[in-house]
Amino acid sequence: MEALASGEKSRMLFERAKELFPGSVNSPVRAAVKPYPFYVERGEGAYLYTVDGARIVDLVLAYGPLILGHKHPRVLEAIEEALARGWLYGAPGEAEVLLAEKILGYVKKGGMIRFVNSGTEATMTAIRLARGYTGRDLILKFDGCYHGSHDAVLVAAGSAAAHYGVPTSAGVPEAVARLTLVSPYNDVEALERVFADYGDRIAGVIVEPVIANAGVIPPRREFLTALQRLSRESGALLILDEVVTGFRLGLEGAQGYFNIEGDIIVLGKIIGGGFPVGAVAGSREVMSLLTPQGKVFNAGTFNAHPITMAAGLATLKALEEEPVYRVSREAAKALEEAASEVLDRTGLPYTINRVESMMQLFIGVEEVSNAAQARKADQKLYVKLHEEMLRRGVFIAPSNLEAVFTGLPHQSEALEIAVEVLRNSLKTVLG
Ligand code: PLP
Repeated sequence: MEALASGEKSRMLFERAKELFPGSVNSPVRAAVKPYPFYVERGEGAYLYTVDGARIVDLVLAYGPLILGHKHPRVLEAIEEALARGWLYGAPGEAEVLLAEKILGYVKKGGMIRFVNSGTEATMTAIRLARGYTGRDLILKFDGCYHGSHDAVLVAAGSAAAHYGVPTSAGVPEAVARLTLVSPYNDVEALERVFADYGDRIAGVIVEPVIANAGVIPPRREFLTALQRLSRESGALLILDEVVTGFRLGLEGAQGYFNIEGDIIVLGKIIGGGFPVGAVAGSREVMSLLTPQGKVFNAGTFNAHPITMAAGLATLKALEEEPVYRVSREAAKALEEAASEVLDRTGLPYTINRVESMMQLFIGVEEVSNAAQARKADQKLYVKLHEEMLRRGVFIAPSNLEAVFTGLPHQSEALEIAVEVLRNSLKTVLG
């Protein structure tokens, strides 16, 4: 398992990709695997197999969707069965009805849902819905939360006391960014100030109920309570972005796990079983504003794609019937314990944030309850850990501002390898 990243075939593909794709990839984080990404030939269970013949234990799981691991037999069977009948109709099919009923039963009983093709589309639609419903323009988001790649959410906290956001991407107009307010995560006082200043102008508050995009950061109970209370009092809709936490923290996602309720629930990743997906769910009152019933526009050639619906349905059935949550939680716990054991002996300050099967390690900091603290952790050391683990055949996210995910196949040999490699790699990089 030595020198995975230097496989000759991967290197050749990378050389060609550099000519073809900006930054050599089709999504930025993939280029963070240095000196170049390993190219994947196939995946099975807990393992990725590279074009250079290496086998890698995968603790990234495609950045969240593959909680059942790669090529789970019942998902494969459902896809094959659906494929054999055709794959795109421009008309509704049975699977979308079945999947919608199942999802709504867990996340919004009596509500409605719209399937789209990515988390990005879903948060964009949720924000448009909140604006359409309230007739207001402002959106409130939190520092460190990621909600996809559209203009309204590519915004960070501006300077000074004002909460108005500034663009984090070239090409996002300042006029658009100013419609998004940004506040620190887990900070109730700041939240109260924003609502005091802008409450009657806020259409929607969008939040990751557990941050998965500044490493992993769990919410404080009082923060969640304040979010619910303040949005309700001000008439803003609470948009829970459960693209990562949906069906990962349990069948009811963060709502069930933390006993909270969102007005709009945004889903993605797991509900598509590994195929492109996003979804917006809410009460009938809110959702009936979407076209063609109402006047808030959404449409999509690929919305409720038959293969995605089949894969999603098979995935949710597996989540209901197989011990996915227990196995993935225990796997993450084993990794957490192994890392703690090594780090405790060094006397270095560190934080491991874990919520069920999502976790991240921050070296050099005592606490990480917001994105500013996450950014203070020793990124270089983490990157070294990622590189050392990859060299030994285990893939963790290449940045500690991403999450480590476990799933159903992380048991037996795959888990033993992952734990051993984590332990030994940590010892190596900590010297
Ligand atoms: N929301 C959250 C919390 C996410 O983590 C992501 C992607 O990682 C998105 C939205 C965007 O989803 P997608 O990449 O499917 O557009």
